[in-house]
Amino acid sequence: MYKKVNQKIINELEKIVGQENVILDREKMLDYSHDEFSLPEIAQIPDVVVKPKTTEEVAKIMQLANREIIPVTPRGGATGLCGGCVPLYGGIVLSLENMNRILEIDKDNQMAKVEAGVTLMDFFLSVEEAGLFFPPHPGEESAMIGGLIATNAGGARAVKYGVIRNYVRGLEMVLPTGFIVHFGGKIMKSSTGYNLLNLIIGSEGTLGVITKAFIQLMPSPQVTRSLIIPYQNLEEAIETVPLLIRGKVLPMAVEFIPSEVIQITEVFLKKKWPCSHGETYLLIILDASSEEEIDRLSGIVAEICMEKGAFDVFVADSPQKQKLVLEIRSKIYEAIKAHTLEILDITVPRAEIAAHVKKVGVVSKKYNIWLPTFGHAADGNVHTHIMKARFEEGNIIPIPEEEWKRKIDNVRKELFQDCKNRGGVISGEHGIGMVKKPFLSFVLNREEIALMKGIKNVFDPRNILNPGKIFDLF
Ligand SMILES: Cc1cc2nc3c(=O)[nH]c(=O)nc-3n(C[C@H](O)[C@H](O)[C@H](O)COP(=O)(O)OP(=O)(O)OC[C@H]3O[C@@H](n4cnc5c(N)ncnc54)[C@H](O)[C@@H]3O)c2cc1C
Repeated sequence: MYKKVNQKIINELEKIVGQENVILDREKMLDYSHDEFSLPEIAQIPDVVVKPKTTEEVAKIMQLANREIIPVTPRGGATGLCGGCVPLYGGIVLSLENMNRILEIDKDNQMAKVEAGVTLMDFFLSVEEAGLFFPPHPGEESAMIGGLIATNAGGARAVKYGVIRNYVRGLEMVLPTGFIVHFGGKIMKSSTGYNLLNLIIGSEGTLGVITKAFIQLMPSPQVTRSLIIPYQNLEEAIETVPLLIRGKVLPMAVEFIPSEVIQITEVFLKKKWPCSHGETYLLIILDASSEEEIDRLSGIVAEICMEKGAFDVFVADSPQKQKLVLEIRSKIYEAIKAHTLEILDITVPRAEIAAHVKKVGVVSKKYNIWLPTFGHAADGNVHTHIMKARFEEGNIIPIPEEEWKRKIDNVRKELFQDCKNRGGVISGEHGIGMVKKPFLSFVLNREEIALMKGIKNVFDPRNILNPGKIFDLF
């Protein structure tokens, strides 16, 4: 079906990107065989890794691959959680890591022009230095701009500020055939033909290689404040969220977090969360234009939460206290990573979260498997972690491989079915990749998937760009 990369092709690749940017060493290629999805079984070693430095080099690589029918897998920071950048059919891994320049931060247009290999961390720093603000905050800052756009990444601040899609105004992209195309630009509006820009956002590297992006920035909020609110149970916590929004407070982020994962992370980091009672916490982050305004908003939030049964409202108002709270929240993944099999990112209508999380509890009991669940309470995006362990009296008890392997498919199916029943989608921000591919038909019908396949065929008639992701063509 696909041609193997032979010496002649390697010579051509070396000519395009330089010998120093071609990796053939098997040990080194192991790093390029997987993303952050936990199971080693999904890893595939490519025939070769190439690291272009310019769009023209990317175009030449694609022309070569299209001519020879060699699969190419674009790769950013490899922080993906569904095997999206795994070279399923071998071939070429095209790593954007050398295209890491922030080309411009245009203060007049509040717009950044960046290459696809810029990390989120470097981007945040440059934007902050320019006195501006990039609101989306997906949790892993080593992700790269191209990967974030290709997955339409979200993060905790989506409730107020939206997802990556809401900030991408223009793209430069190399088609699978090697042509360079541009969609949008430094513009706020466009009704000029089909909106191909938005088709590319979230296309998981299957329609083109993103090489540059124009990204909208905003003025920074003047003041932020984090509130930690303990509740006896999850339902009370989650039922508070629509009341907040109805009470005319739109927080920057609202996360619900079970106390068990906070305890584990406290031990992992040797740091203390500001409060210890209750089974569930809401972490609410507010932003405002003045101290007076943030005091007013905090007051409304406190009143609504206490009325709904919260034990207390803890305020992290100094930068140090905020840093501690956000650090503990962001390190939960690391603290439980060794026992985590998969992180789901089901999104249900906001009013369905509590019922969906209850169902997670039922499935957890049925299969006797730990499914710690937390997430973005105000936008319906729920992160259930499927664990290779049980959680008993504060301890993580690993379960035998044979047991979790036997159970995992049924656990996924029951949760995806519940998601479907509630009008949700199986991925709200991580993408389908290869891991969720078997479940796409849970939420999309045959005609809908056929339309997607038709689009793929228009962009990539030889099916060489990231084949086997989202759906199979053969
Ligand atoms: C601890 C942790 C926390 C996370 N938190 C969040 C979160 O809050 N919100 C969220 O949305 N995600 C989150 N993620 C998931 C992950 O960070 C995102 O999916 C991110 O967008 C992936 O970016 P990446 O550069 O690592 O892409 P990769 O993993 O390298 O690739 C992801 C997909 O994008 C494609 N791709 C990469 N670069 C390009 C390009 N230049 N052109 C075309 N296609 C390309 C790949 O082929 C692949 O299909 C988290 C992950 C971890 C490990």
